[in-house]
Amino acid sequence: MKVLVINCGSSSLKYQLIDSESENVLAKGIVERIGMDGSILTHKPAGKDKVEIKTPMEDHNIAVKLVIDALVNKDHGVINDLSEIGAVGHRVVHGGEKFNKAVLITDEVKKDIEALSALAPLHNPANLIGINACEKNMPGVPQAAIFDTAFHQTMPAPAYMYGLPYEYYEKYKVRRYGFHGTSHDYVSARTAEILGKKREDLKIVVCHLGNGASISAVKNGKCVDTSMGLTPLEGLIMGTRSGDLDPAILSYIGEKENLSAAEVNNVLNKKSGVFGLSGGVSSDFRDLNAAANEGNDKARLALDTYYYRVAKYIAGYAVALQGIDVISFTAGVGENDFGVRENVCKLLAFMGVKIDDEKNKIRGEEITISTPDSAITVMVVPTNEELAIARQTIALL
Ligand code: AMP
Repeated sequence: MKVLVINCGSSSLKYQLIDSESENVLAKGIVERIGMDGSILTHKPAGKDKVEIKTPMEDHNIAVKLVIDALVNKDHGVINDLSEIGAVGHRVVHGGEKFNKAVLITDEVKKDIEALSALAPLHNPANLIGINACEKNMPGVPQAAIFDTAFHQTMPAPAYMYGLPYEYYEKYKVRRYGFHGTSHDYVSARTAEILGKKREDLKIVVCHLGNGASISAVKNGKCVDTSMGLTPLEGLIMGTRSGDLDPAILSYIGEKENLSAAEVNNVLNKKSGVFGLSGGVSSDFRDLNAAANEGNDKARLALDTYYYRVAKYIAGYAVALQGIDVISFTAGVGENDFGVRENVCKLLAFMGVKIDDEKNKIRGEEITISTPDSAITVMVVPTNEELAIARQTIALL
């Protein structure tokens, strides 16, 4: 069966068409600037050149229609007919406490996703728009919701509660939810598979280090802690997000800079992280490494602070897991930036972590980079959230 995987943002839509038997990606692409000037669809069929389709797209319905047209197109299409698509899997960011696993979409599920928009105002409404647009353009095709938060629902209360008045949890559901769950689930499962062990027998720390970044502690196959919180702002220092900070900084900066709460929130989400700390050099680690190597002190500081935060979280998760068997690095930075892995592991040398410098320089492959005498196995395991979504969609059918 062919599964269309959809990741819908407020003005964008990423997609992959995956053959569930071979698990090959038949085509993938992205629609950008939906509802704005300059809407564009970039479509990449497997084994063929990518095509760019620039045409006004006033809403997601039109975007989905254009994606379908591209998939069945005579020249750059990969299927003959829409009926070849057996199911659609949607990435949905927030499933709250209601969803601890993927579900087939019904009207009831859509209402729940809408109700959870209060917790993810930028994401859930966009996910819902994508779901509605697919329902309209592919009537009768089963659709599934795969939640970013679901894998983390196994966390125990001491890991998910904040030190706040209890009534905020009761009234507003303020607690840690965690994100990137599909990736943490996939990478921890793959880690065990590569090692030829059962995930149920392992204590794994997954470091999903991309533009957004989060760490999770996976014990006996279940998530017991993760670094992102009520929103994807908590935890590690990210590309442009601050991660953890003293909550009093919010009102202090608001007063000093004459910013509203929403404006401070914007600074913490879009102008902070390694981008902000480096004095605006970049949120991209390739640029930061280049700048640091050329002697830019702020870029160096941003990188060193980033390494330190990652290592501190990993060591902290030794408590959550009561020991660590494996550390797995994944996502854009985790898979590609050997300096991040090297420096984080150096900070963990006191725990007996030792890596092989040559193996660590290999990029983007499934590989064990620790030495045989390392107390903890360290691996690079490329994530594949789209494949994980396609697999979960098929499992639901
Ligand atoms: P993601 O959000 O997982 O797609 O990760 C995107 C980030 O990965 C980019 O912003 C870069 O910081 C980082 N990245 C991608 N390629 C490389 C590379 N070759 N070296 C270092 N960092 C990289």
